[in-house]
Amino acid sequence: MNTGPWSLHVLSEVLAAFTVESPSALRDVLSRVSEAVDAEVTAIFADDDYILCAGLDEDEKQLLRTSCTVRPHDLSCRSGLLHLYWSSLGGVEWLVVGRFSEIFSMEERALLRAMGRSIELCSRVLDAVQAERTARQAERQAKEVAIREATIDQLTGLANRRLVIRYLAERLSLPSFAGKFTAILYIDLDRFKHINDVYGHRTGDQYLRAVGQALRAFVAPSDLVGRLAGDEFIVIATASDLSEVCTLARRILERFENPIEVMGRYLLYTVSIGIAMAEDSETPERFMENADIAMYAAKQKGPGVYVCFDRSMREQRREKALIELELRAALRAGEIIAYFQPVVAAVHGGVVGFEALARWRHPQRGWLEPDYFIPIAEEAGLLRDVDEAVLRDACHSLGQWRSVQRGICPRLSVNISAPSLSDILLTQRVRCVLAESGLESGCLFLEITETSLVEDVAASVQNFAELEKIGVRLAIDDFGIGYSSLRYLRRFPVEILKIDRSFVWGLGRNRDDEVIVEAVIRMAHSMGIKVVAEGVEIHEQADFLLGLGCDFLQGYLYGRPASPSRSEELFEQSVASLLGVGLEMI
Ligand code: C2E
Ligand code: CA
Ligand code: CA
Repeated sequence: MNTGPWSLHVLSEVLAAFTVESPSALRDVLSRVSEAVDAEVTAIFADDDYILCAGLDEDEKQLLRTSCTVRPHDLSCRSGLLHLYWSSLGGVEWLVVGRFSEIFSMEERALLRAMGRSIELCSRVLDAVQAERTARQAERQAKEVAIREATIDQLTGLANRRLVIRYLAERLSLPSFAGKFTAILYIDLDRFKHINDVYGHRTGDQYLRAVGQALRAFVAPSDLVGRLAGDEFIVIATASDLSEVCTLARRILERFENPIEVMGRYLLYTVSIGIAMAEDSETPERFMENADIAMYAAKQKGPGVYVCFDRSMREQRREKALIELELRAALRAGEIIAYFQPVVAAVHGGVVGFEALARWRHPQRGWLEPDYFIPIAEEAGLLRDVDEAVLRDACHSLGQWRSVQRGICPRLSVNISAPSLSDILLTQRVRCVLAESGLESGCLFLEITETSLVEDVAASVQNFAELEKIGVRLAIDDFGIGYSSLRYLRRFPVEILKIDRSFVWGLGRNRDDEVIVEAVIRMAHSMGIKVVAEGVEIHEQADFLLGLGCDFLQGYLYGRPASPSRSEELFEQSVASLLGVGLEMI
């Protein structure tokens, strides 16, 4: 007997005769082969007909002959000597195994049966393999989801910080190719908080998504766009040189000079960009830090500009960190104190009040002005502490003045920043300071810029309702350079409006400024609000303002910010000369 064709390799041939694309299809084939073999349906073809079908009786054979649509010659499924095809017989699908001319011998049929059993076994093994494979696949999918969740920012679908760092590490480990370098564009949205405050968080979220999409449009598929946190995005790009990166930055800035549509609204907000280029020794973290430092510089310069990192920026940053540290210590040590600048009545020139201005008595560097430390305090979240230190010190100093103790108290203006304004304990703090210093609450004005009022309107309204109750008064600072919106002048119990010194500077020099100042004074008066002009330096300005009916004047012409003792002296002199004028005019 020729067992050659029926050895195991024939089995593999049988199987190979079927194109199997998926494991489940393979399993299907195997079980059908095993069924067929077990049923011993074997056939012999001759002259394009079945001359024998072992395992079938005559009727079934006849049925096969009539029902079968394929003829042996055009059997599509051929494997060497064997022909295989499926046929349905009495509602069951059968695999017909046949060959031309030669009958299957007993041994061959035994072999077919044996094959059937091993196929059966294989099929069970395959079941187990399949089950394991399914489990592994599920595990892999779960892992993929976990990785995705851990590396993809849920809101925007962009890479998150973790993926960005990993990606950067990979890029940095590769040698630069074809003169190309990796560059980072660190992108921070300008005034994003405003979107959230004005339009709500849903719009804010949608806006972030839209920004992500907009940024994606600028980079090659091999580059990466990520969101690091809040409103901070990053673009990691490949470029030949710095100028190419700058061009990309300019294109991005230009995009944001056009509005982005979000939920039917057109939002126009700029972005600030910091650029850093990779250098051999740098780690991903340091690389990002460089771009962040540059972005920070862009914020200072901006809005809507880009800045390229350079090493001196690092030095400045270190310096800033040092000042921040010192400032914290200074606040504890009582080195932040109040100086006083006089405010005079426009009609008689007598001192009617003072503005308290922060000064830092630095043990090594001497007296430091607010420009030096207020921005750092703001960034470090220390503004509230500075405000409180100045409020406390100013009230405390004033409470000691002889005139105050005799019942003649100048108005005291204290600057209050946005963080103080949204502090729910503000009123309590103010009340406490007033009680300690013995000052009348009616003497105290809190100066708030337009911008900080708008930043947290809800908290401001609440605080002002409470402050009004205890008799503390409100002044709007730097009027004209912010929103200059009349709406909140109605909304808050504003008593004084301070015209920013940039307009005062223009009096007698710039017609536009003159028109603005005149309009502001007229408008304020029509609302029952008094006006202080800031930064009055020369008599011409003072005369101009007097002519427009401005109520109070403040500026170097009447005195620079001075120590409490010198200010007390100034006030004493002023009161003495005013007594001739009549106290009711003060
Ligand atoms: P500001 O509230 O507008 O204060 C007026 C600033 O203008 C003061 O600067 C004052 O010295 C200056 N100034 C007054 N008259 C003239 C003038 O005739 N010409 C010119 N060129 N300048 C004049 P200073 O003391 O350097 O304060 C700067 C800013 O720092 C203040 O502007 C205020 O925004 C902020 N600041 C000062 N103290 C505090 C504080 O305690 N808390 C907070 N949050 N900010 C403060
Ligand atoms: Ca002020
Ligand atoms: Ca001001």
